[in-house]
Amino acid sequence: MARQTGSSCKLCRRENVKLFLKGARCNTDKCALSRRAYAPGQHGQKRKKPSDYGIQLREKQKAKRIYGILEKQFRNYFAMAERSKGVTGEVLLQILERRIDNVIYRLLFAPSRQAARQFVRHGFVRINDKKVNIPSFLVKEGDAIKVTAKEKMRKKIKDEIELAKERGVPVWLEADLQDLKGIIKRLPVKADIGEGIQEQLIVELYSK
Ligand code: SF4
Repeated sequence: MARQTGSSCKLCRRENVKLFLKGARCNTDKCALSRRAYAPGQHGQKRKKPSDYGIQLREKQKAKRIYGILEKQFRNYFAMAERSKGVTGEVLLQILERRIDNVIYRLLFAPSRQAARQFVRHGFVRINDKKVNIPSFLVKEGDAIKVTAKEKMRKKIKDEIELAKERGVPVWLEADLQDLKGIIKRLPVKADIGEGIQEQLIVELYSK
């Protein structure tokens, strides 16, 4: 399965924003963006005024990188959002949030979306009592999520939860952090998604 490779921190430096791709490290002074707040590469420190297209492109890249999605799949999500009855940009954000790897991250069961993706692929997740090992699986309202890892792994997950608690669980989810379970209370709306993505710029980019 295709995935993003290379340094995660370079992606944050390129977008000049913390994308929180490395779990607990992102909140420490080891964060590469805190130490080198400029784009990577030979010309990274040169400043030039971006064009409208450049701004839209960066916003799309930022969204893709936050959720760890490659271009083809991101375009597919955009097409899904366009076909829906809702506002395209907001539906796009909702689709991204509904991915099970994102939900596992939001429930605090994994320190980053990348770790959550591994978690799902390794078969630790059940949705409505059925094993789901596809990170792009989209949850729906009322779905019940359960972690089925063995005791040693459960202890590790609970230790990770302690470190992640200050992140908080969003209101559209209900988490049982003791039994490692969760419920999708309702689908997320834009106000629930605190990633600061300006989805309108992405719609403008793809509508050219
Ligand atoms: Fe981004 Fe985290 Fe690396 Fe900081 S430590 S640059 S937030 S991935």
